[in-house]
Amino acid sequence: MNRLFLNKKLDVYNRVYNYVNMYLENLPKIANGAVIFDIDDTLIDISKVIRKSHNVVLFDQIEPIVRLCKRCKELGYKVIILTARYKYAMMSSFQNLNLFHIEYDEIYHNEKEEDPRFKIQFKQNLANTNNIILCIGDQWHDIQGIYNSLGIKLPCGQNKNAYFTFNNVNFYEI
Ligand SMILES: [Mg+2]
Repeated sequence: MNRLFLNKKLDVYNRVYNYVNMYLENLPKIANGAVIFDIDDTLIDISKVIRKSHNVVLFDQIEPIVRLCKRCKELGYKVIILTARYKYAMMSSFQNLNLFHIEYDEIYHNEKEEDPRFKIQFKQNLANTNNIILCIGDQWHDIQGIYNSLGIKLPCGQNKNAYFTFNNVNFYEI
């Protein structure tokens, strides 16, 4: 990846922060409001290892998205972390989130070696007891399954664009 590409990517994350923050600030308060964040390539950049031991790997943060997560907490939303990482990676997740002082209310790992698209069904279950107002992640399955709130698809691999949707049908570039 060249420097221009990396700078563009950071610009996109900052635009996402500004866009979502403005949206949240104008959103009327609702009971049981909750937001769902993915971990890998959402809160942290898995291309940047900063510490590695025999059972824990820590990565650098994606600062604008970490800031956004903290902003959600500040605005009183329940922060739910939903990751396709398997359970054995739990210690790495806890330590990585702590390292960047990311507060959350609930965290869910992948219980079984199954398709990461388990997140779609999982989010629908979470929506039974929470008013999900935002889902954010770098994979389409991070936002799929919820049809009446803000979904943010972050850059992934060579696709440096971010998109928003309110219905998982129409997508707009941020
Ligand atoms: Mg991810």
